[in-house]
Amino acid sequence: NSHRRRLSLAWKSRFENAQTIDGKAITVMANVGSRDDVVHTAESGADGIGLFRTEGFFLAAKALPTAEEYSRFLSDSLEPIGDKPINLRLLDIGGDKNIPYLSLPFELNPFLGRRGVRLLFDYPELLSVQLEAMVSVSRDFRVRILIPMVTFAEEIARIRKMLNKISKKHHQEPPPLGAMVETPAAALDTKSLSRQADFLCIGTNDLTQYVMASDRESALMGNYFKDDHPIMLNLIRAIARNAGKVPVTLCGELAVRHESLGAVLANGITSISIAPPSIPEIKNSIRNINLLLKTRKKRT
Ligand code: PEP
Ligand code: MG
Repeated sequence: NSHRRRLSLAWKSRFENAQTIDGKAITVMANVGSRDDVVHTAESGADGIGLFRTEGFFLAAKALPTAEEYSRFLSDSLEPIGDKPINLRLLDIGGDKNIPYLSLPFELNPFLGRRGVRLLFDYPELLSVQLEAMVSVSRDFRVRILIPMVTFAEEIARIRKMLNKISKKHHQEPPPLGAMVETPAAALDTKSLSRQADFLCIGTNDLTQYVMASDRESALMGNYFKDDHPIMLNLIRAIARNAGKVPVTLCGELAVRHESLGAVLANGITSISIAPPSIPEIKNSIRNINLLLKTRKKRT
């Protein structure tokens, strides 16, 4: 049947570039969290790792890992991807995920609380262990470092200062530094962010949650958590435009749905990062999209 035929065609062409009918090249990368995911990524035809979620390693540890332990985990996990680009995200935990060795205080609204980079500033050792390990694996891999839950451009500058210092100590060039755009503040001030960041990743899961004021996990919020609503698509277009020359990747679940993929690309996104199993099919869908038709339809 036609579905089977499409899947088989997608699988056969997975290592080929994804280009729209009108000739726009789209980068398709993978969201991962473990070595297993990276193995699947390498087999899926991905152009790299757009988002490495590092929470699993730190949640599983009994005590704060050393930089050596963490860099061993990272090199082991990254080995299957070889020389493709990799966005390693700094730890994104907050009041809802308690790491025993940190004993984080209770927060009434953890998702509006000390999450992501906000928490890292308060736990300097937790931050420096990560930067040390990431700088160290950047010797062998094309690593870029990604900051979660950025609100202000100054947060990027503050991390960059520490990154430069650590890189100098290791006699290495600092890896490129980027920011997640997943708070409304970051989305509304992409111009300032792009003056500080080497690249940006839009996290549509959190961005939708915060723009719509609707819990991304709640089954009751289905009518409000709409990541493909025109409000979100317009915001994505503004982010892509205001980033100027700074490259933007869209990392949330939005890009993995065939129905919304065309809208994402028509709004100026040229790089997406999705779950590894979807990569062959999404690349194939991209090859069937004509952006000239999409934009014309929108104008009339
Ligand atoms: C997001 O928020 O859309 C995102 C990609 O990051 P996470 O799902 O890990 O919060
Ligand atoms: Mg997020």
